[in-house]
Amino acid sequence: MAADILENLNEEQRQAVASTEGYIRVIAGAGSGKTKALTNRFAYLVNELGIATSNILCVTFTNKAANEMKKRIRTMIGDNDTGYICTFHGFCVQVLKEEIHVLNYPKSFMILDMEDVNAMLHSIFEDMGLNSKNYTFSTITDMITFRKCREDYLKDILNTNHDELKSKFLNAENEKDAIFYRYLYEQKKCYALDFDDLINFALYIYENHEDIRLKWQKKLEYIMVDEFQDVNVRQYKLAQILSDYHHNLFIVGDPDQTIYSWRGAKVEYILNFDKEYPSAQTILMNKNYRSTPNIINVSNSLITKNKKRIEKSLIPMKNIEIPVIFHHARTTKAEAEWIATQIKLIIESGKSLRNIAILYRSHFVSRSFEEIFIKEKIPYTIYSGIEFYKRKEIKDVLCYLRMIAYADDISFTRIVNLPKRNVGEKRMAFLKDHVEKNNCTMYSALQTNLNDEIFKKTGAKDFIALIDKYKAVYEEMKLSELLTGVLNDSGYEALLRTNGEQDRLDNLAELKQSIFEYENTAGEECALTDYLEKISLFTNLDQKESIDSVQMMTIHTAKGLEFPFVFVCGLNEGVFPSKHIDTQDKMEEERRLAYVAYTRAENALFLSDAEGINYDGSFRYPSRFIFNVEKAYLNYTVELAGRLERDACQYIEQNEMKLNGSNKSLKIKDIVKHSVFGQGVIVNINQETSSYEIQFDRMETTRSINFRIKLEYLGREVE
Ligand code: ATP
Ligand code: MG
Repeated sequence: MAADILENLNEEQRQAVASTEGYIRVIAGAGSGKTKALTNRFAYLVNELGIATSNILCVTFTNKAANEMKKRIRTMIGDNDTGYICTFHGFCVQVLKEEIHVLNYPKSFMILDMEDVNAMLHSIFEDMGLNSKNYTFSTITDMITFRKCREDYLKDILNTNHDELKSKFLNAENEKDAIFYRYLYEQKKCYALDFDDLINFALYIYENHEDIRLKWQKKLEYIMVDEFQDVNVRQYKLAQILSDYHHNLFIVGDPDQTIYSWRGAKVEYILNFDKEYPSAQTILMNKNYRSTPNIINVSNSLITKNKKRIEKSLIPMKNIEIPVIFHHARTTKAEAEWIATQIKLIIESGKSLRNIAILYRSHFVSRSFEEIFIKEKIPYTIYSGIEFYKRKEIKDVLCYLRMIAYADDISFTRIVNLPKRNVGEKRMAFLKDHVEKNNCTMYSALQTNLNDEIFKKTGAKDFIALIDKYKAVYEEMKLSELLTGVLNDSGYEALLRTNGEQDRLDNLAELKQSIFEYENTAGEECALTDYLEKISLFTNLDQKESIDSVQMMTIHTAKGLEFPFVFVCGLNEGVFPSKHIDTQDKMEEERRLAYVAYTRAENALFLSDAEGINYDGSFRYPSRFIFNVEKAYLNYTVELAGRLERDACQYIEQNEMKLNGSNKSLKIKDIVKHSVFGQGVIVNINQETSSYEIQFDRMETTRSINFRIKLEYLGREVE
């Protein structure tokens, strides 16, 4: 058996697999077999050392990666029980299901996804008389996430009762505090946790309940984390706490693929791992099994343009000579058409569509492709966080199910009048008023007031009867039967039929199918609340890849994956790199993102861009991530017009100077030297015009000098 597991691995991988004890770090480039080593290590622990799967925690970055890993491990260990192979979020859900009672929360707590959070904010805004002119939802969700980084909010939500929380938002010093506390109040009312809470609650329990911490520490004898370059402070803390008993923590990552700094990831955790754990053993791998030498040359050539990095080399193991292509198109439509033509050629050569991926920086880029693909009859699947489970009809139906399990306000508000039951704005306002006065849920407000005059001539009674009927029996019902029953009795399916919404009906059929499959594979965890918990963490990445289609996704989503044919499109200044990049550090992260994109390709890599105008009126030049690659490694389908190339390079150069300038963070009273005007002192900084106001020694009046101009720092004026 051991021979089997170790046989297909190289020396370094074998070392990683067989070094089971202690703190181990693997640092290696893309496609060097880190994930493969990790997967094999799991199998080795189980098959060779006899460790139980339930004593191993294996954390990956996406549900899709976790599912693939489970599949592989199942084949290797010949057992369906694979223990904890999940994302950090997924793991925390499992911990909380067992332990959240110590915080006086029910085992079947509810998980809020982004859309639920927005729905909650919508209702809070309404109550407070605010609208999007005051704040956008994204400003508020950022604010909430930011505040939830501080642990003191946990005391507010955990140790404060409804009335105290209410008085906190009623007496808040400012509007943002009021929104925040109101949000906590609404959350607490229905025992709902958002994504930030999942890990915060788990950490809180571990830090405040020694017995529970010890139980999990003892249980998890071996801990492994993939993509460690992208962990944030709380994920790191969790890994540290959990491994603090057996001291077996195995981490793998590639610092060149850190792409989540904007969400708090810190590459330092992997880089300084040996300082944190002086006994740590580091294993380096430098053979690339994924890509052709040309793809590796292109990727290396690009990433060496980052200044802040540790030099690494990758030796290609494949020996196929396929050139990496760059195509410049005049319009985005022409770019999409070119890609469609290439895809057809690939298909004609006998390859299947699912071998092809189209990767882009942002979702909006995909639109022009959809049009062409529909016209050319090329099947495609767009993978995004907001596909299947967030579609309106799916969410509606899930809200019916949630209503039965949790009777929460978000679900109530969404479906009480869907199909129409004559419970419109006026009656909702009545209910809200009752809720405010009685600190209850909307659902119980309606129950209490069912016989009130205001609900005569409405379908309120039927609605309550429907929910109550299923509330009484759902725990004994099969999920699929529950779904069919609710779809029929609520009139929701009939509503779609009447409106002739075939697409939506098809999606419902797909939901039924997926619930059916879930039922057959979930084992003991097939209760309604288990299912709702599970899908709240899902994206459509986790759907079954049933149809053979071109895979379209953002580069962030493609992390860790690989495809025989990869198209990276929209490689234009202002698109990729995005126009929001304003410091050199962010530009380096953007370049790492391009590196991740290029290194997804196994056999063929196609890069493309298209001329056009950005939203801010700037011209879309070909991206610096094309020019960053040594020209000898790229096969241009057409030479760029001399003028275009010159203008693009000039634009990029100016932008780089601006990035360098803004990184220096010069301050008022700094003494600087200008290449022509000589020495001077900064008297003001104008962010709006991106310039320093400088009093030069040899001039009577000040001059405004743009940030992008290089200024030599000489010192500071004496105070
Ligand atoms: P990334 O940094 O992109 O996550 P990775 O280092 O995790 O990459 P893997 O996905 O584990 O790399 O491996 C890349 C490819 O190389 C996979 O197809 C894998 O099966 C293959 N591979 C890994 N190790 C070997 C090996 N020793 N022999 C043959 N193929 C291998
Ligand atoms: Mg990997």
